[in-house]
Amino acid sequence: MKLDEFELIYKNDRNIIKNKAKSESKLEEIIGKQNVSTEPIDILAYTKDSTLIAFNWTLQGKIAGLPDIITWPETVEQISEILKYANKEKIPVIPYAEGSGVVGGAIAIRGGIIIDMKKFNKILDINDNDLTVTAQTGINGMNLERFLNDKGYTSGHIPQSLYTSSLGGWIAHRAAGQFSTKYGKIEDIVMGMEIVLPQGDIINFKPIARASTGPQFDKLFIGGEGTLGIVTKATLKIWPYPEKRTLISYAFPTFEDSLEATRQILRQQIFPAVIRIYDADETFRHFGHIEKAKDKVMVVFICEGIGRLVDLEEQITKETCEKNNGIECGEEPVEHWFETRFKVTDTSSTPTFQMVFDTIEIGFLWDKAADMYHSVIEATKKVKGIVMITAHVSHFYPNGVGFYFTFAGVPPKELTDLEFYQEVWDTVIKTVEDCGGSFGHHHGVGINRSKWMSVEWGKSFDTLKSIKKLLDPNNILNPGKIYENPWKERGEN
Ligand SMILES: Cc1cc2nc3c(=O)[nH]c(=O)nc-3n(C[C@H](O)[C@H](O)[C@H](O)COP(=O)(O)OP(=O)(O)OC[C@H]3O[C@@H](n4cnc5c(N)ncnc54)[C@H](O)[C@@H]3O)c2cc1C
Repeated sequence: MKLDEFELIYKNDRNIIKNKAKSESKLEEIIGKQNVSTEPIDILAYTKDSTLIAFNWTLQGKIAGLPDIITWPETVEQISEILKYANKEKIPVIPYAEGSGVVGGAIAIRGGIIIDMKKFNKILDINDNDLTVTAQTGINGMNLERFLNDKGYTSGHIPQSLYTSSLGGWIAHRAAGQFSTKYGKIEDIVMGMEIVLPQGDIINFKPIARASTGPQFDKLFIGGEGTLGIVTKATLKIWPYPEKRTLISYAFPTFEDSLEATRQILRQQIFPAVIRIYDADETFRHFGHIEKAKDKVMVVFICEGIGRLVDLEEQITKETCEKNNGIECGEEPVEHWFETRFKVTDTSSTPTFQMVFDTIEIGFLWDKAADMYHSVIEATKKVKGIVMITAHVSHFYPNGVGFYFTFAGVPPKELTDLEFYQEVWDTVIKTVEDCGGSFGHHHGVGINRSKWMSVEWGKSFDTLKSIKKLLDPNNILNPGKIYENPWKERGEN
């Protein structure tokens, strides 16, 4: 197999590693021959993540980004040595976990060394009094959750990608699980971390419930997307496995009614673990078989915890839905969601029909949430080639919500699929930003959103760039993400 024969989307300087054989043998010296590969078949496996447009490219025989050397280190000291060497030689290093990221974060757009984290898969400690678990960050999400469930706990962090993502990937992208309304996002769950900085120093943030010892410096690395350091170990909050789980669903006449009901529930400090509002199109798509939900907006809830509290939460949730015109639909819609919640075959098969498909999740405060939703739907429907734009709301806070827009379209003749993809992304994000929202709720920035960073952050983006420069003066750690705009470099945006 000749990798050079594939069309490369993010072209990089193929000579970035001056002497590849020398680098390979230096890496072998650090981590052992068995943990280094330059075999084309291995390289090919690391040319993309799960960004949906990359599936379209794969079907067209194109490669997103081409790394040079793949490594599987086993200790934090080995990662430190790799970074020291890469820093000296100015070679890009890209942390790669399970590749389920959907914004291009793990794509090696400048070439370089992939550090695959999969050998960092050990659970190190569980503490019942403190309610904490400490694990290496390459651990697969489902393996961690199963271990906790067997011992009578849950981390409460259950993303749809649970089977295909890792603890480190969650921390890097500030992920959110489906049960986030009760347990929080990953930034609410992480209590301590071990991190290797770009120049090889190993630092630790000890787990503590709360502290007042200067700024919350540790937070800088949650959402760092592998650009500021490699997180090698983390301590998480855990909870006793829920004693009781109640399934509730209501259909509402309008999207506004459903938002108002859920806002009022949160305002009463009732935190169902799961709340999901599906707009009328998504209700038809997912719950078309439920007669009471016809032409309506379906909302599913799961309350969980100790029995007596769950009963009270159920009562208040139901009363509030009924006060806001909700029609009770029973447990079946929630069971249907529960059974199908990890299934994404519909999504992943769209590229085979030459369609461009993706999801864009955004954050918004309550006040104008419904207006923003309508503005995004209207603006996106105007994009030439768009076939579908729908939404659900899946993350709830007393002060705001996380929306999830889903689009599909067929690029018009004059546009490449990437140009069409960018146009839809730009339309959604510009509308959200104009309405006062935030362009990302839990998938991160990666490549797809970096062009919007200065809009989102304003002047503080310059400060963030200065911090990156201070920690990583040679810009070796995951270059081309967050702070730069690779779409622009391709001359397309
Ligand atoms: C079908 C599907 C469903 C999804 N559902 C959800 C969901 O419900 N909620 C959600 O939040 N996301 C979801 N995602 C997105 C994705 O699973 C998350 O972004 C996840 O956090 C990525 O984890 P990963 O281990 O696969 O990381 P990767 O994709 O391998 O890497 C992601 C980023 O993290 C960096 N990175 C990886 N490990 C480390 C480390 N140890 N230290 C520093 N940086 C590191 C990489 O360099 C890259 O920038 C979904 C994706 C898919 C495909």
